[in-house]
Amino acid sequence: MESEILRHRAEELLKKKPPRQVSRLSGAEIEKLIYDIDLRQTELELQNEELRHLWAKTEVINDKYTGIYDFTPTGYFMLSHEGKIIELNLSGANMLGNDRMRLKNSRFSYFIADETKPIFNLFLGTVFSGREKESCEVVLSLNENTQMFVHLTGIAPGNGKQCLVTMIDISERKRAEEALREREERYRIITDQSPVAIEFYNPEGLLVSMNPACMELFGIFDTEEIYRLSLFNDPNIPDENKNDLRQGKNVHYQAVFDFDKVRELNTYQTSKSGKIWLDILISITKDSSNARNGYLFQIQDITERKLAEDMLQQTRDNYETFFNTIDDFLFVLDTQGNIIHTNNTVTGRLGYTREELLGKPVLMVHPPERREEAARIVGEMLNGSTAFCPVPVLTKSGVSIPVETRVSHGFWDGNPVIFGVTKDISKVQLSEEKFSKLFHINPSACGLSDMENHQYIEVNEAFYKLFGFEKNEVIGKTVMELGILPVEAIETILREADSNGNVIEAAADLRAKNGEIKHVLLSSENIFIQERKYRYTAVHDITERRKSEVSLRESEDKYRSLIQYSSDPIFSFNPDETYKFVNEAFARVFGFKPEELSGKSPHFIFSYDEAERRLGAVRQVFKSGQKGEIEVKVVPKSGNDLYFLTMLDPVKNESGEVLFVTCISKDITERKLAENEIRKLNETLEQRVAERTCQLEAANRDLAIHAGEIGQFSYIASHDLQEPLRTLTNFTQLLREEYSGKLEDEGNRYIDFISASANKMHELVKGLLEYSLLGKERVMTMVDCNQVVAEVLADMADSICVSQADITVQELPVLTGYATELRLLFQNLIDNAVKFRKKELGTEIKISAESRENEWIVKIADNGIGIDEKNREKIFILFKRMHNRNEYAGTGIGLSLCKKIVELHGGTIWVESTSGEGSTFIFSIPKR
Ligand code: ADP
Repeated sequence: MESEILRHRAEELLKKKPPRQVSRLSGAEIEKLIYDIDLRQTELELQNEELRHLWAKTEVINDKYTGIYDFTPTGYFMLSHEGKIIELNLSGANMLGNDRMRLKNSRFSYFIADETKPIFNLFLGTVFSGREKESCEVVLSLNENTQMFVHLTGIAPGNGKQCLVTMIDISERKRAEEALREREERYRIITDQSPVAIEFYNPEGLLVSMNPACMELFGIFDTEEIYRLSLFNDPNIPDENKNDLRQGKNVHYQAVFDFDKVRELNTYQTSKSGKIWLDILISITKDSSNARNGYLFQIQDITERKLAEDMLQQTRDNYETFFNTIDDFLFVLDTQGNIIHTNNTVTGRLGYTREELLGKPVLMVHPPERREEAARIVGEMLNGSTAFCPVPVLTKSGVSIPVETRVSHGFWDGNPVIFGVTKDISKVQLSEEKFSKLFHINPSACGLSDMENHQYIEVNEAFYKLFGFEKNEVIGKTVMELGILPVEAIETILREADSNGNVIEAAADLRAKNGEIKHVLLSSENIFIQERKYRYTAVHDITERRKSEVSLRESEDKYRSLIQYSSDPIFSFNPDETYKFVNEAFARVFGFKPEELSGKSPHFIFSYDEAERRLGAVRQVFKSGQKGEIEVKVVPKSGNDLYFLTMLDPVKNESGEVLFVTCISKDITERKLAENEIRKLNETLEQRVAERTCQLEAANRDLAIHAGEIGQFSYIASHDLQEPLRTLTNFTQLLREEYSGKLEDEGNRYIDFISASANKMHELVKGLLEYSLLGKERVMTMVDCNQVVAEVLADMADSICVSQADITVQELPVLTGYATELRLLFQNLIDNAVKFRKKELGTEIKISAESRENEWIVKIADNGIGIDEKNREKIFILFKRMHNRNEYAGTGIGLSLCKKIVELHGGTIWVESTSGEGSTFIFSIPKR
């Protein structure tokens, strides 16, 4: 059909074109032309077909578009310049709540709520004035109750005569936004007013906000400071909690928050200080898509709760400790009589473990044979008809303990229970026994009287003895009836009694049966024996003590007057260095009366220095607690100086503290004067010694001169005597030769005497000469004593041979000395050793030497006749001989010579000897 229309239209068009010239066409050409036309037509028909097809497609799309246009939730409007609706889609009509046809040509602004009309007008103006898309949000006011929030987008295309406006209902979104805002507001109010400290952190862990309670808790005023804080860097949050948060776990923990430390770390600018306990709950908050959007901290200050908990725990611990330290057995029983708790005394003393007891009937701790009785009493206890049980308890090992149990009802962990307090009365029994014993053997008079009728029920032996009653006279009587207590005594005792009527050591005068007054110390007390009240009275007789106190006081008085009137000054010092007491003698020395000085300081009497010197000694005694003494000089108001030796003595209390210092002075003036005399003499003594030394030196000098003269004289005498002696000897010799046979025997004997005397004289003179010549050379050389002795022995060969002496010579020194003199020394000593031998015994002589640090010691020892003790000094004196010349020849010069030689060398010589057993001559020669 459509193709026919097209053909028709084509024919019409062809008619209008000028006719084409086809006469000169050949047949072939016409055939070709016809073919082309057919081809063209087919082509056209194909195109036509295709067009039809496209049209159909377009129709479908068009339908679709109209559907979309009408039924899309967006409202489409075409508005005129004046804001009239030219065209609109179905949704638009629906949104405006009216029929599409009726809405055309109506003003769009009519539907807009008054408050948003200015927005719409502005929007419309802008849309028409530009080519850009514009949008706004306005409220449609559809009827009195219905309002709709819409979003308008408008554009004025083409000629700008109309504009296209889309309208989207955003009421839902707006409502959601409003709801969100409201919720947030509500939430803000809640958090702001919440007593719980709340903090929000963003997903990165940075602090976003905190509520006032939080600021208050942490004492923060400057929130800027705190917003730098990252929870993952916060040192106050434990690392494991941070890890849990990272892993998406909520955390809940309690921690101590130390403001001081926090301030140190500079994490919070807080004004508070000290520590608080916090309960912290950190929850991870999530958005609607379940993604993490932050952290919510809920923090509560639980310090008070903690403290209360601690207190409670402490109370509990105290209670438990108290419970366990009580010596009594404490049981907690349930209402069936089963044990639910005990203290350590129960387990400790009964020997059960707690597990063995808990949950078991309390009857198990009673002896089997009395369980029936116990069961009955426990039953009565449970129903409250009794509170007391006398049945003993039994240890696990079977030992019975006498007890008294009292019970009371109460609650334990909220359940009704019975508390049992079981008292071990074995101690009470024991103490009653002890009391009874003590009562009877007490040396003080003791009595026990009934508090109700005051009659004695028991008194001890000492009571009978003190008051002189017979045994049957006291029991059942009162103290008044016995006449022991005179009225005055009652008054004193009552005055001493405390509020309970107890009296401790009140002094009282009691009367014995015979009327004698006894001075006593009385103690009295109320006591309970088996729940009955008694009065126990003990009386300590101090009559004797009183007597001795009196005599002591008397003797003290005597002693006091002794001191007071003693001729020696006696006084004492208080710790404050004042005189505690001074006696007459002391005060008199200074011209005072005793009462004028007591309480005064020594500064009152003495010069400052003197007072301090005396006080120094006193202080020393106070400090050391040791006795002391000091010599003092007193210049009395009249008369000569006096000297005193003052002995200071500490008087101490029981703990060794010095209470005061007593001083007794002795007059030592005479001794002092004598001492002064001696001192003066001593001072002149030195001078006198010096003078005497001078005198002695002068005498020595004279002596030396004298000695020199004697030496000279000896020399001259001995030398000059040689001459007449020699003459005498020669002429005696001539006389003997010339007159031999001419003289009678008598004459010959005389000649022999003369000759012998001359010889002796010769010997003496020779010895004397040697002696006087000693040391004359005065040249010391090195002398080998070994050689000297060898020569001496060689010279003495004859006499040694005769004596058959056995002489041993040990190593001798080579020393510096006078050679000739040393030879003489050895010669004399060896000669004597040989000479003074014992006839009957083989002679042994030992010559030896030893080297000491500064000297040589040489010994010549023999086993000869020895020397008497008394002679050991004398033998060294010139011409002193201890033997008769007939017995032992000699001059008595030898040892003097030896002594002089040794002394010449600066040494000494001495002899050690046992009479009859031998002698050892020892000399020392200093080393040079
Ligand atoms: P003399 O030998 O000439 O008598 P001395 O002066 O040598 O004189 O001796 C004095 C005295 O000492 C001797 O007379 C003798 O009594 C006593 N005496 C000396 N040496 C010894 C000795 N070795 N044993 C006993 N007596 C001695």
